[in-house]
Amino acid sequence: MTDTKIGSKAAPVRFENVSKVFGKDVVAVDNINLNVEAGKLVTLLGPSGCGKTTTLRMIAGLEMASSGKILIGDRDVTKLPATDRDVSMVFQSYALFPHMSVLENVMYGLTFSGFAKEEARSRALNGLELVGLQGFDSRLPSELSGGQQQRVAVARALVLEPQVLLFDEPLSNLDAKLRRQVREDIRAIQQDLGLTVVYVTHDQEEALAVSDEIVVMRNAAIAQMGTPRQLYDAPNDRFVADFIGEANLLECQIVEINGDAATIEIEGYRHTLPRRGLSEGAATIAVRPSRLVIGSHQGIPATVAKATYVGVRMEYTLTGEFGQVFAVHDDVDAPLDPGTEIKMGFADKGPVLLPG
Ligand code: ATP
Repeated sequence: MTDTKIGSKAAPVRFENVSKVFGKDVVAVDNINLNVEAGKLVTLLGPSGCGKTTTLRMIAGLEMASSGKILIGDRDVTKLPATDRDVSMVFQSYALFPHMSVLENVMYGLTFSGFAKEEARSRALNGLELVGLQGFDSRLPSELSGGQQQRVAVARALVLEPQVLLFDEPLSNLDAKLRRQVREDIRAIQQDLGLTVVYVTHDQEEALAVSDEIVVMRNAAIAQMGTPRQLYDAPNDRFVADFIGEANLLECQIVEINGDAATIEIEGYRHTLPRRGLSEGAATIAVRPSRLVIGSHQGIPATVAKATYVGVRMEYTLTGEFGQVFAVHDDVDAPLDPGTEIKMGFADKGPVLLPG
């Protein structure tokens, strides 16, 4: 049995001005800089085609960078083949060998990399235990649920004790309920073992749920990087505001600046919030649906255009001179009817000015 702890080899990943160009002119990744700390889970999030998978594959060595430098720990791995990088990848398709048992699947990479059979077996059993699949070792992949198959794939990657573990949309093939379960499992294992994980998804809720940090990508570049809360509470521009959680975008005027605070005005309603480097004049704010205050006295005049009961809350579409916004409220027992005239305000820390 080994005395190294899985995760003890976790290393940071660093990109310095990395680009990837396919053919003559398909720029899949455009000069990005990235720091993934050891023991953290960082998600690459963005719409289809923004360069997430290419970025991940460059860490794995499945694609070679066209320019720039990639470091894992202190090692410059930019030109190293995949087999020499000390990373493992979990794919969305699981990619298990159908004719091999669960145990043989997990042992495969270990024997391939030179472990004696008994040692490989004991490490593989340990890996299966870590993902909660003890007792499943003699089953075939076809005798497991999708979630269990994905856990075998995770075990198979874990037992190699990589410096970095990569996940490429690992939940895509699972139904909604299992997705939540497996993402919680992955996060728990990552935290327990202190693994460095880079995780690709296009699902913002999944990214918010599992990440220490999220890297939002757009058109081959990084739009913004930060903790889930930083991105949700202080998006830099419309794209990030809209991509992470739902956001209402409203035009406003900055009518007063006072140090780091700005006072904005919309139809006579004023609200003071962080200035974020902006000056007086026209600006845009983003407001989350739960941070719109629906009242009858103070605020921006609005009409309830649509009211939908979804069990745990009411969802409202509000219209007015400002356009249309989406609001949620927990007044399920006393909902507002369509046509009701209200005044719309902002909660403390509700709106955020968009500098970009
Ligand atoms: P998705 O969520 O759809 O997987 P993504 O964000 O992972 O998208 P990538 O797969 O990294 O995006 O692709 C980025 C860009 O590079 C796209 O325009 C894609 O068409 C292009 N691309 C990716 N792989 C290749 C390749 N092998 N040859 C040519 N172009 C490629």
